[in-house]
Amino acid sequence: MAHRFFSDRPIVGAVARLGGAEAHHLLHVIRATTGSRVVLFDGSGDEFTAEITELGRSEAVLAITGRTTVDRELPFQLLLAVALPKGDRQRWLVEKAVELGIRRLVPLVTARGVAQPGDSTIQRLQRAVIEASKQSGRNRLMEISAAQEWAHFAKSCQHAQTRLIAHPSGGPPASRVRIQPGPGPIAVAVGPEGGFSDEEIEIADHCGWRRVDLGPRILRVETAALAMATLVSLAAGSPDA
Ligand code: SAH
Repeated sequence: MAHRFFSDRPIVGAVARLGGAEAHHLLHVIRATTGSRVVLFDGSGDEFTAEITELGRSEAVLAITGRTTVDRELPFQLLLAVALPKGDRQRWLVEKAVELGIRRLVPLVTARGVAQPGDSTIQRLQRAVIEASKQSGRNRLMEISAAQEWAHFAKSCQHAQTRLIAHPSGGPPASRVRIQPGPGPIAVAVGPEGGFSDEEIEIADHCGWRRVDLGPRILRVETAALAMATLVSLAAGSPDA
């Protein structure tokens, strides 16, 4: 795949400009020169072929040579609500969530959670979303919402056609999870290292979340999140499968 760069401004005309981290990446990481061809995306779902016409220290100017809509999204919207782990594991989780096609990540505030991501953390994670989209070929950016209390999110998620909560020994083995394809989003929830509290599980039951047991071993938050995303992708399938 050609080197991909993200434009944080919508690409509308025949010229695009890249600044900041993207210009740095062009100049210092791939050592592009004028005349080099790259692929741009702006989060709209479209992909652009472009040729570098000017390359400065902090800005690159590119001529747009083509535009196509390339859909690499899942055939349904997948929401991941997760009590984020700490440090590097947080960034790792975001990277993998982008690769697996998650549409929106909702950081959860839970009774036993440790990391309560603030605005600066979320901004840093947005950068990880861009990096992972560049690498994985995704043309839409995964959204990261502001952190939400589990009780609030669990109730407000009634519009999702399928809601699954990962909870050890809490329900049928994951292999028996069946998902009816439908038009609505699918939501999956993963708790903190300390697990969801009894009260939080009661809220989930009350709001129609189905429990999913991922097996007899306790998984790290990020492992459970990826297992849930993969499980749903396979169980929901694609419309032409
Ligand atoms: N001691 C905690 C473990 C938490 S692991 C407990 O007993 O709940 C962190 C989160 O990952 C859990 O809240 C759950 O959402 C998910 N998880 C980890 N291992 C799991 C498993 N085997 N089955 C289902 N969910 C799991």
